[in-house]
Amino acid sequence: MSEISERLAAIRERLNAACARAGRDPAGVELLAVSKTFPVEAIRAAMEAGQMLFGENKVQEVLAKAPELPSRLRWHLIGHLQSNKVRKVLPLVEAVHSVDSLDIARDIQRIGGELGLFPKVYLEVNLAAESTKHGFKPEALRDGGLEALYQLDRLHIQGLMCIPPFDPTPEKTRPYFAQLRAWRDELENLGGAPLPGLSMGMSHDFEVAIEEGATIVRVGSAIFGERAPKAPVL
Ligand SMILES: *Cc1c(COP(=O)(O)O)cnc(C)c1O
Repeated sequence: MSEISERLAAIRERLNAACARAGRDPAGVELLAVSKTFPVEAIRAAMEAGQMLFGENKVQEVLAKAPELPSRLRWHLIGHLQSNKVRKVLPLVEAVHSVDSLDIARDIQRIGGELGLFPKVYLEVNLAAESTKHGFKPEALRDGGLEALYQLDRLHIQGLMCIPPFDPTPEKTRPYFAQLRAWRDELENLGGAPLPGLSMGMSHDFEVAIEEGATIVRVGSAIFGERAPKAPVL
């Protein structure tokens, strides 16, 4: 498991170097360690190496793992959230990166109210209009969507999140990251409220994402190793 601490150290070094290239303060970029499909022992190894922030894409996995680990760990949900799971997951996570529809945002508003919570959220944007992916069309946010979301006072909207089409060459993904930042700027102007957060960049392209303004990068396999192709959920 010391392999995990070595990989983590290498990622932090690359993160700092990317910040230096972009003239950014590393304090402005959070590393979300995506632990999906990996057991609590792997998470504990990362924790012992100083990592406190973890991401999971399935509610069941957060529910199973969080109670097994120290409560000072912070959890973010990064995968599609179904409305019937909102009540279970909200008390466990600090942020939801995958708010991908007005309906789920309204569920979070209602249940957050019942539970006395003000969850941080990112609005997932489907930049390439991929039918296989969730997310708001950016034009829909511009044309009334953001206004409707701002009515939901329980949601602390941090900013935008994207999962660009996969390309093994990170440079090919750069335009998507730049686009997300441009949409953020436009929506900030339109909504008259800051949207400082940009959740973008994964194991193979997080450095490019940082150069384009990411404030939180979601890194899994580069820390924990390759995931089994069809890993069962627990
Ligand atoms: C799995 C996942 C990641 C991490 O992917 P890696 O390539 O392993 O770094 C990031 N974001 C989301 C939404 C994911 O589902």
